[in-house]
Amino acid sequence: MHRKTWMEVDLDAIEENIRTAARESGKDVIAVVKADGYGTGDLAVAESALAAGAKMLAVSSVEEALILRTRGYEGPLLILGHTDAEDIPLLIQKRIAVPAYSASWTDRALRQGCRGLLVHIKVDTGMNRIGFRENREIREAVSRLKEAGAEVEGIFTHFACADTDPAFTAAQYERFASAVQAADHPFRWIHCDNSEASLLFRDDLSNACRFGIGIYGFSEGYRGLRHAVSLYSTVFLVKQIPAGETIGYGATYRTEEPEWIATIPIGYADGLIRKNQGRKVYINGEYVPIVGRVCMDQTMIRLPYRMEEGSVAEIFGPHISLEEMAEDLETITYEIISLISGRVTRVYRRNGKPVSEFNARMSEAGVCSE
Ligand SMILES: *Cc1c(COP(=O)(O)O)cnc(C)c1O
Repeated sequence: MHRKTWMEVDLDAIEENIRTAARESGKDVIAVVKADGYGTGDLAVAESALAAGAKMLAVSSVEEALILRTRGYEGPLLILGHTDAEDIPLLIQKRIAVPAYSASWTDRALRQGCRGLLVHIKVDTGMNRIGFRENREIREAVSRLKEAGAEVEGIFTHFACADTDPAFTAAQYERFASAVQAADHPFRWIHCDNSEASLLFRDDLSNACRFGIGIYGFSEGYRGLRHAVSLYSTVFLVKQIPAGETIGYGATYRTEEPEWIATIPIGYADGLIRKNQGRKVYINGEYVPIVGRVCMDQTMIRLPYRMEEGSVAEIFGPHISLEEMAEDLETITYEIISLISGRVTRVYRRNGKPVSEFNARMSEAGVCSE
């Protein structure tokens, strides 16, 4: 690593979280590693999740699925979102499963030819995103797809409020149960839970859960996960600024007295959005504020005393929880980690020690990094 700004990913924690999901849900775990493993690195997370017993991987698009196949993953793989009919031959060839989510999608797929296509029926039970709404349409799609030689191996739905509204979730589940019954087909995979439901919702119909954010240790309502992700940068300059001067673009912060100002090499192009101005980072046992506007590549922080250049600043991690940061920024943990850009080096840890690192931008360019 050259620029000392990195995301740390604890692979032991990821494995433990997968085992926790399997134990708490009593179901097979489908590890959701879309959006490059929520920004942490799809392949590293996938390998750990599979080592811990996950039975399938799920991603959001054909591109993400092909990336995993190209990197050598040959096991069960499901795309959760939309796919175009023209991609079906490729999906068949690569054994990538897709949702059938509407009568019009099914029509287009059948015109393309579906022999050997792995299909999961997507049921809309109240999310009102993708999915069949009517049991009659589901029954018809299942029988037409089967007739055309597709392997209808799964059926699933997605909860809208698993973390906040048990009654809403229970109502969605009832609609799902009725759809499964109406489909009248021996599905291998029946799944409705996201992370929160995997840990907290019980049912006796589904046999798999789709575990996403919980892999990384974040949950609203369940306390037994281990945080797996943190973000750091390193002070490269410390100087004393006299009273009455301003810091950064727009001169939005003015020193009241001589102040120790440090600069760290991280900015909004790394995913540390400008709204972080005024929030704190953790450095040498102190919580210190970000002063002035966050720049594209650099951020200034105000130290209580002169600290050494080279001191490491935690943006979030053991001392500043991502949940707290998400609350400050009026967003959710998912958004923060998935927006940490490919410019930030990912450092993977096992047994408390760094074991490998990966920089997506450098890797794309073929830069050899020692
Ligand atoms: C992203 C996603 C998940 C995972 O949700 P988490 O809340 O991260 O566990 C599960 N199912 C579908 C359909 C998704 O899009």
